[in-house]
Amino acid sequence: MLDVTAIREDFPILRRTVHGRPLVYLDSAATSQKPRAVVEAMSRFYAEHNANVHRGIHALAEEATEQYEAARAKVARFVGADPRGVVFTKNATEAFNLLAYCWARLRLREGDILLSTQMEHHANIVPWQLVQPEAGFELRWVPVLPDGTLDLEYFDEVVATGRVKLFTVTAMSNVVGTINPVRELAAKVRAANAEAIVVVDGAQSVPHLPTDLLDLGADFLCFSGHKMLGPTGIGVLAGDPDLLDRMPPFLGGGEMIANVTLEGTTFNEVPYKFEAGTPVIAEAIGLAAAIDYLTALGMDNVRKHEIDLLSQAIPALQAIEGVTVHGPTDPNVRGAAVSFAVDGLHPHDVGTIMDREGVAVRAGHHCAKPLVRVLGSVATTRASFYLYNTPEEITALVNAIEATKRFFKVGT
Ligand code: PMP
Repeated sequence: MLDVTAIREDFPILRRTVHGRPLVYLDSAATSQKPRAVVEAMSRFYAEHNANVHRGIHALAEEATEQYEAARAKVARFVGADPRGVVFTKNATEAFNLLAYCWARLRLREGDILLSTQMEHHANIVPWQLVQPEAGFELRWVPVLPDGTLDLEYFDEVVATGRVKLFTVTAMSNVVGTINPVRELAAKVRAANAEAIVVVDGAQSVPHLPTDLLDLGADFLCFSGHKMLGPTGIGVLAGDPDLLDRMPPFLGGGEMIANVTLEGTTFNEVPYKFEAGTPVIAEAIGLAAAIDYLTALGMDNVRKHEIDLLSQAIPALQAIEGVTVHGPTDPNVRGAAVSFAVDGLHPHDVGTIMDREGVAVRAGHHCAKPLVRVLGSVATTRASFYLYNTPEEITALVNAIEATKRFFKVGT
């Protein structure tokens, strides 16, 4: 059980008011709030240890390097990866772009299939599309069924061709909350083609579920620090260091080299080969503090808390006349991002009036336009929960929806 009252004390922003009302922050799927420990770890780094990493010989440079590499080791432990396979990027999006450019572009050819799904965030769609014309592979998308789950029959059919060379899927949908059976899917892909690699979008799952790369059966996992209590500006590509070693660099510059002459350059070992220039030092230290915070609470407890919130929220939303919840309704197979529709109202109108009630939700396509189209819409309203949310805030959510309906005189 989480002590949410104590947890909320660690997040100063949750004491804020907006439009004269207490803030009810239900937009953690877009970005989470940050505990004081994260802000202080970054501030302490700048106040007491700031220096560039890896190349200095002075004491501060050593301290900064030690903290930066300790952060890498912590991230690796958190997701069951080898630290040599943990590359710090700008965000999850950059991690996907790295894989598209350095793997898919070079290793997939005509006749190969890159299999993804209709459920993906644009970050796991567009990078593959960008390199597809050059590489010539076929892009296939597993459809999403009306209940918000993947069409596994279609998946099986495509995998049975033996031509899938790269399979990529989100572990948890940022729109409908679906938790995908990644381990089973990955095993099938590998059984059909031993050369295939599996890439998992962990942007929504790593902040909310215990994660183990080996258990997922993934070669690579991409996620962002800012959705898991950490700062913006840092993402992670975690995976097999041997596969990383087989890839050319993504960006060139300082840090990523072994030797440079004007005739040519040799590259540093992984993961440094993929971290050109001064890396995201303070952000890595902030992310490590976030991981300490999550680890102290226990990811199992975080998940249990969210299941409790969902067990209250989903029936409460369904009980509002004219409200439809998208995606799976069983809290055990879904995460804490809950999209819904209110009959007769545009999601932007719903979000705007809810904001006036102090309730921060997101309205739009959530950077997952193909999925939102499957839902028969151009937008949804999304409430997303995290470890600091309370049952009282779900009541506030419901009241804000009712207030919105009254405002627009819908269903009255
Ligand atoms: N994948 C999913 C499922 C996401 O929810 C997001 C962020 N909304 C991303 C990828 C991209 O994350 P970022 O914008 O931090 O790169």
